[in-house]
Amino acid sequence: MGRSVATATHCPYCSLQCGINLVAGGRPPVLTPWEDFPTNRGGLCGKGWRAAELLDHPERVVVPLARSRRGAPLRPTTWEDALGRIADAVTRSQRRHGLDSVGCFGGGGLTNEKAYQLGKFARVALRTASIDYNGRFCMSSAAAAAGRAFGIDRGMPFPVQDIAGAEVVMLVGSNPAETMPPVMQWFDQGRAAGARHIVVDPRATPTALGSAVHLRPVPGTDLALANGLLHLAIREGLVDHEYIATRTVGFDAVRRSVRAYWPDRVERITGVPVAAMRDAIGLLGEASSAMILTARGAEQHSNGTDTALAFINLALALGLPGRPHSGFATVTGQGNGQGGREHGQKADQLPGYRRLDDPTARAHVAAVWGVDPDTLPRPGPSAYEMLDRLGTDGGVRVLLVFASNIVVSAPHSTHVADRLAALDFLVATDFFLSETSAMADVVLPTAQWAEEEGTVTNFEGRVLRRRRALPPPDGVPTDLGILRLLADRLGAGRHFADDPGEVFDELRRASAGGLADYAGITHERIDAEQGVFWPCPAEDHPGTPRLFVERFPTPDGRARFHPVEHREPAEVPDEEFPYYLTTGRSIRHYQSGTQTRRVRALMVAEPEAYVELHRSLAERVGVAAGDRVRLRTRRGDAVFRARVTDTIRQDTVFVPFHWAVPSSVNVLTNPALDRYSRMPEFKVCAVAVSRIDDQDEE
Ligand code: SF4
Repeated sequence: MGRSVATATHCPYCSLQCGINLVAGGRPPVLTPWEDFPTNRGGLCGKGWRAAELLDHPERVVVPLARSRRGAPLRPTTWEDALGRIADAVTRSQRRHGLDSVGCFGGGGLTNEKAYQLGKFARVALRTASIDYNGRFCMSSAAAAAGRAFGIDRGMPFPVQDIAGAEVVMLVGSNPAETMPPVMQWFDQGRAAGARHIVVDPRATPTALGSAVHLRPVPGTDLALANGLLHLAIREGLVDHEYIATRTVGFDAVRRSVRAYWPDRVERITGVPVAAMRDAIGLLGEASSAMILTARGAEQHSNGTDTALAFINLALALGLPGRPHSGFATVTGQGNGQGGREHGQKADQLPGYRRLDDPTARAHVAAVWGVDPDTLPRPGPSAYEMLDRLGTDGGVRVLLVFASNIVVSAPHSTHVADRLAALDFLVATDFFLSETSAMADVVLPTAQWAEEEGTVTNFEGRVLRRRRALPPPDGVPTDLGILRLLADRLGAGRHFADDPGEVFDELRRASAGGLADYAGITHERIDAEQGVFWPCPAEDHPGTPRLFVERFPTPDGRARFHPVEHREPAEVPDEEFPYYLTTGRSIRHYQSGTQTRRVRALMVAEPEAYVELHRSLAERVGVAAGDRVRLRTRRGDAVFRARVTDTIRQDTVFVPFHWAVPSSVNVLTNPALDRYSRMPEFKVCAVAVSRIDDQDEE
């Protein structure tokens, strides 16, 4: 027997992309931390430790499945039959209803190569404008804000290690102690050296418990808080006038707009005491180095882009971006949330963060793809807008879903499930029968993370290699293989390689000269340098760990201020729905739970969905810890187990979003969209809370 060899790769879950080693030989392989990988330095969370278990899970889909007719059960079939059905459905629909009647829905967990290839498949093989992905529900507001203010969207424009050197860090709507625990080593290292942390969150999360200042705004009022902090910074002489004069434009308009955010008014809007605001701005404004980090808590709102811009305004006024151990960053969520938004699976985008409506970008990418630029579709509808119209005249009628469980993760999810049911044909690629793939007419099995090669880009903008440690089950292709097979059936196979190295080389060419330029990144460099930071336009370019040090990638090199105004969330509490509902992640589970709800240890630790509510609210509605609770909004109702706590605002309940009906919180959430990013308002809506008596029907 040969010696087992360890394969260095990365966790399949969140955007920290912790380094791990897999020792193949048995199935599943043995997983250990990659001790000297620079982001996690040997740290893994409970999800990462158990990631290899799912490679051999008994529920894994390993053959194509199809149903004989709507309503009949899914049964194993041949690849020939499955691909033939898909090609027939696509061809028939496009002939009858036009090219855009066939759509693709991708995911932020896809490797760069797959995200790139899916975007190309939609534009070249299907020639449809109908493609978007679940990152629209995750990073789109942060991306829109960063693009407008800095001229580029790279979530964290500096290496994660810089956090340890910041004197003050403000986290807004971010709870890394539970969502990515190994990253806390950098925060803890900073605190051990005397750093002070400010946390903005309606809950006293484990992240907030270690902070010097915890601000608990009413959900949906973060923008007012940011404007209020900037008002105070100006009034107390804390802004950096030299930085503003030399590195930015537009401050005067912002200064005028925040005049209206005097402290008492902001306290009335946000519920944050003036004294706490003063403490926070005092720490931020007087530090020699400081960072402001936002995440989904600030961004998943119908004014999420403006809210992110408000915190960027604050960071710019304090002179932070581009300074050592300082800056503004957004903490990306999904495993390839960064790379997945750069290479073309977004409705309006071409690879390299190019715009689909830019003639020069179209010409460049079309030349790499070997097609006429005029054949490329125009930008299509955003994710929720596409889902909202599935099966309607003018909407998508045949949908191909890759790496996304929309039935659990989309807002107003019962409506989305109804729309999926109204499709003429639904295809899903998956390694488990998620709630979405269980609705499909054809399900195609696909390889998992440890069974294929590819690159991902973590939340720092560091391009990494996922390496194959073991082969997929017999007959199971990768998503690249599936796209090639489908393209063959549609007569476009010559445009589609299925070798990830070949696809990456093509992606490098397609991204060359774009904002997210990968042209100089090679597998060899990633191996030698433990990842390469984009932009990296040439093989002799060192990559760019730190952006904005000398200039911003705008035409004049300066960052932009944007005046932004507070407005109420699309839905606020009233007599019938008297509380705020907010959502997020728990420490045990990940995204829609398709994977982590199948991991025994995680299910033992957290077997069911819960609602967190304050003790006083629990008393008011007659709920005790462990009771079953019904939450009801204007869109539906769902059932959760009560966790009674003192760590949340008294007017707010929190539910994690990893569960399906009857405990799917996205049955309740509001699909009101941000006007720039088209991000739904996951983080706030009005809810009624009641206890379920034993004799009640659910
Ligand atoms: Fe995986 Fe994220 Fe946990 Fe690291 S923190 S082990 S990347 S889920």
